[in-house]
Amino acid sequence: MLEAIQLAAIMARASDERWCADWACGTCGAHQIRSTFEELSERHSYEEIASALAAVGPALDLDIAEWLLRALSHPWNKGSLSSRKLEEILSNSPAGVHYKRMLAAKSAADARRREHELRNDPNEVIRLRAEKKQVKAEQHQKRLEAKKLRDAAYYARAKDQPQ
Ligand SMILES: [Zn+2]
Repeated sequence: MLEAIQLAAIMARASDERWCADWACGTCGAHQIRSTFEELSERHSYEEIASALAAVGPALDLDIAEWLLRALSHPWNKGSLSSRKLEEILSNSPAGVHYKRMLAAKSAADARRREHELRNDPNEVIRLRAEKKQVKAEQHQKRLEAKKLRDAAYYARAKDQPQ
């Protein structure tokens, strides 16, 4: 069994030693938290680690917690937990609240990415370009018609004016 106090100690150390907890760090690969997690997961199941995380309470270091939550739910990691399972274990603990925020941010990011992909889809780009061209052609036509009316009015007035 992994005690919350052990995780809290890891977090305190991470904070003192300023561990990098950037999930995608290309500089150091967040090696301290990564190797700590590997050691922990040799001795404890992901469920145990998640339960301990839930029990850490307000001493939670959010950066380290976030790194751990990503690792626990990462599909590449053997034995990774589904987000539903992880939410269930974490419940309304500080880690659970933070995990819900992470999921919300992720789904917002996914929606933005889908929208971006749609905007950059070649067929969609062609369609939007054609639509724009159509709108421009219509505006152009309207301008020409308006000019025709203005000109007609002008010539009509000019004809009525005495020379
Ligand atoms: Zn780093």
